[in-house]
Amino acid sequence: MRAENTSDLEFENTIRPRELGAFSGQDKTVDNLRVFIRAALMRGESLDHVLLHGPPGLGKTTLANIISNEMGAAMRVTSGPVLDKPGDLAGLLTNLSRGDVLFIDEIHRLSPIVEEYLYSAMEDFRIDIVLDKGPSARSIQIELNPFTLIGATTRSGLLTSPLRARFGIQCHLEYYDAAVLTGIVRRSAGILGIGIDDDAAGEIARRSRGTPRIANALLRRVRDFAMVQGSGHIDLEITRVALGALNIDTRGLDTMDNRILSTIIQKFRGGPVGLGTIATAVGEEAGTIEEVYEPFLIKEGFLKRTPRGREATELAYTHLGLSRFPTADEGSLF
Ligand code: ADP
Repeated sequence: MRAENTSDLEFENTIRPRELGAFSGQDKTVDNLRVFIRAALMRGESLDHVLLHGPPGLGKTTLANIISNEMGAAMRVTSGPVLDKPGDLAGLLTNLSRGDVLFIDEIHRLSPIVEEYLYSAMEDFRIDIVLDKGPSARSIQIELNPFTLIGATTRSGLLTSPLRARFGIQCHLEYYDAAVLTGIVRRSAGILGIGIDDDAAGEIARRSRGTPRIANALLRRVRDFAMVQGSGHIDLEITRVALGALNIDTRGLDTMDNRILSTIIQKFRGGPVGLGTIATAVGEEAGTIEEVYEPFLIKEGFLKRTPRGREATELAYTHLGLSRFPTADEGSLF
């Protein structure tokens, strides 16, 4: 999910952290990156290629910007689906200056032919371009300036192993805990000049699915309610009113999270049920469920992975207000 319009974009740009020091959470990843960046700077080399993977909204684009900032490099941005011809990639690569960063979002969606071009570019900073077609076809080799490729993906499982192997640095971003997210909400509020109580920031953080992008978006919506229905200052009461009006789940689960849980409970008696079966029942790709939805549901204790499939936990039943042993009325669900 990207920012949807100009004002969303402006908002994201205003609050996006610009240095590693301002990037909260993901401590291990940040500590490691700090070392790799320093070492590359000490050697006067470009940073090794970096793969950032993890669910949407956790800070992949933000980290890519920070890395190029800390390297003192310029960053070019593109995405897998946009680069559909090798010529597009060649154009981008040949325009990179020494040390520049090329950021490819959704890198799992590169076409195979473009991906092949990337191999030699990443490994030897060189590309072969084929000119003309048929018998007069010839290929020329172009040397590239050393650069750093930063790839971001929500679906690391879809990356081919040759591509994955060419990233010297691989970072997995995790969901944020409520304490770190509370800090992010307070920081964003500070930048935007919004007054917010600590408990209100904590409430927004707990209901944001462990995701900074959602926390920041909710902060904006709660601010609207505070301005129109309150004093402009965000306290716990107006936060609860706003989040209630927005149908934000008390545990931060979104519609698809809840649909997955209710499907397992109502259609498959709580499981165990296979991933493919759940995917068909909720109308989502199995890989997306596995890499985008499931990790959060498991982390929060709503879902268990067992050798025989996925199982809803007691917490999932309580959360949805369903009982494990349905009464005659509820029994009609099966
Ligand atoms: P992704 O590329 O993983 O989808 P983004 O980097 O676009 O996510 O992050 C989404 C929003 O969340 C950005 O506006 C950014 O400001 C904020 N954000 C993400 N991670 C952090 C963090 N660790 N600290 C503060 N803000 C963050």
